[in-house]
Amino acid sequence: MTKTADSKLSCPVSRMCGGCQWMGESYEKQLQKKQQRVQELLKGICPKVNPIVGMEGSPCHYRNKVHAAFAEDERGRIISGVYAQGTHRVIPVEECLIEDQRADQVIGVIRHLMEKFRIHPYDEDSGRGLMRHVLIRVGKMTGQMLVVLVIGNSHFPARAAFVQQLVKECPFITSVVVNLNGFKTSMVLGPSSRTVHGKGFIEDVLCGKRFGISPQSFYQINHAQTEKLYSLAVRYAGLTGNERLLDAYCGIGTIGLVAADHCKEVIGVELNKDAVQDAIRNARRNNAQNIRFFQGDAGQFIRGMAARKENLDVVMMDPPRAGSDEKFLKSVCTLKPERVVYVSCMPETLARDLKYLTKNGYRCVEATPVDMFPHTMHVETVVLLSREKADDYVRISVHTKDLKTSMN
Ligand code: SAH
Repeated sequence: MTKTADSKLSCPVSRMCGGCQWMGESYEKQLQKKQQRVQELLKGICPKVNPIVGMEGSPCHYRNKVHAAFAEDERGRIISGVYAQGTHRVIPVEECLIEDQRADQVIGVIRHLMEKFRIHPYDEDSGRGLMRHVLIRVGKMTGQMLVVLVIGNSHFPARAAFVQQLVKECPFITSVVVNLNGFKTSMVLGPSSRTVHGKGFIEDVLCGKRFGISPQSFYQINHAQTEKLYSLAVRYAGLTGNERLLDAYCGIGTIGLVAADHCKEVIGVELNKDAVQDAIRNARRNNAQNIRFFQGDAGQFIRGMAARKENLDVVMMDPPRAGSDEKFLKSVCTLKPERVVYVSCMPETLARDLKYLTKNGYRCVEATPVDMFPHTMHVETVVLLSREKADDYVRISVHTKDLKTSMN
């Protein structure tokens, strides 16, 4: 891959891979296009869209989570990479411009060790072979690395020797997990895992807090931009120390734990069991006494809060791409928190949900797009909404140039 004079990057497999849709554009142009997309979608819904918060320096190798599938080429050599779009045909990728570089190095070592130990890639159709995927997670601040070897058959010959050799060649690996996934599925991880080296998870430091992250839990993939995103979300929440805040779709509790220092009480809700367990441990890790986590559907959970007429000052919501649902949004409108901070990774579903909220007692104050995914078409946006009739509302205006990457 190369860097051209006008700051465009080029990758030899970008067309076949399809992961970085905007690789051929300069970074400035990419930011402009993302800004435009958010502005267009929020037109008539949000009166102010601030300039996008881009990545400083060279936006490369930012992905802290790396995944590769294994296959054999026509000559029977092990290859690893991504599936061609809409298929399970592996396109070989040895170096990726956006992935963590040490992770790519580890994948190269795994390919080499598979040859050495005569381990074949798993073939979904015949059910033969062993190694199916590898998933790598890196703690950008701690340097910790978790390698999840996903196998299609439960018998892993010479597993201990394989793992020992892997860790010997890549001593920065802090943990190795073997995950069994023999199902015909597009999910990378199967339901059963076994830790064969280290703790079975990694830790990272974000906004001054320490987080443990298990293989199945969600964790934002761009560390530097996540700090900016969370700082902005917490500022939008306008916390004075007296608030009761709901962190909905909370993952491992990151936003809630960052906000907990600035409010009275935080309640987190998350569907994924592993993530909730991580969140509870993360509260202990950071000695946070004013935060509790619940496992379940965010919509159902908040409906229960509304039925009990609980008091809520701020709702922080960060749903997956599909956005939230009417059950959730309706209960927000019943509970009437003063402010709603909506963090979204999909502007189309964001616009849909904002329309609902603005028809039901809220107004959008401002939005800021944040570039979490350089070289791709994806864009994150954080929006502040306020209750329409709140006359004690203090306008919180955040200028992107004032953003700090730390909450301290
Ligand atoms: N706020 C977190 C996680 C955001 S990703 C962070 O910044 O890291 C969205 C999260 O929503 C994922 O953890 C996913 O497991 C969770 N989720 C998806 N559907 C959900 C639902 N119906 N109810 C609660 N959580 C849900």
